[in-house]
Amino acid sequence: MKKRMLALVLAAVMMFSPLVSKAATFNPNHALAYLAVRFTCGCTRGGTGAMIGRYGMVTAGHNLYCPYHGKPLKTCDFYFGAQTPCCSWYHHTGRFSYRVYDTFANGYHSENDIGYIIFNNPVGDTTGWFGSWAGSDRDLDWEYMNLYNYDANRHMRSLFTVEKVYSSRELYWDGKLSGTGGGPVVMGEEDYVVAVFTCYSNDGTGYGRRLTYDVIRDMRADGAF
Ligand SMILES: [Zn+2]
Repeated sequence: MKKRMLALVLAAVMMFSPLVSKAATFNPNHALAYLAVRFTCGCTRGGTGAMIGRYGMVTAGHNLYCPYHGKPLKTCDFYFGAQTPCCSWYHHTGRFSYRVYDTFANGYHSENDIGYIIFNNPVGDTTGWFGSWAGSDRDLDWEYMNLYNYDANRHMRSLFTVEKVYSSRELYWDGKLSGTGGGPVVMGEEDYVVAVFTCYSNDGTGYGRRLTYDVIRDMRADGAF
């Protein structure tokens, strides 16, 4: 009976843990994808997404809903380990579902510009995945922050100067990394994703939407891990 109680407690801790470890096979070049998106309004967009589980990818909401017309995506191709417009390590075209936290029906706002993709197949078994760290009530360790994304030529880039918590939902930093939105903001030697890159303001400040607990909870419920 005691063992059963212990197992239940452990299961509960696992369910509510804000931390998920990276894959044993983790390699940022493989767990990051360039997203070639087409929306139902006809707009096209390049984006970046990061695997954080066997089935789940996190990205910006504006890669899943057109930020100009509030229309959902129609198709998306995933180029993991992209290197040039014609070359990638793993090109995935399979079926998936997705969820966003803002559909931009009233114009673009960055506060809820986050979404996720759940693949029908365990894509993470091939690509590996980043760790993830959810929560809005924790101090983050800023010493090892990195932002990753793909530029328009599908070259992976990174920026090391994330500086400060902006709010429980957003980060901001100085220093521009030109390229696509949706790339992960990664913390620590365990490579925990703590936010996704959303946009730059007119003064060049970069913004990231934090991977809050509600997003991780929804991803877990939808089978991301
Ligand atoms: Zn559009």
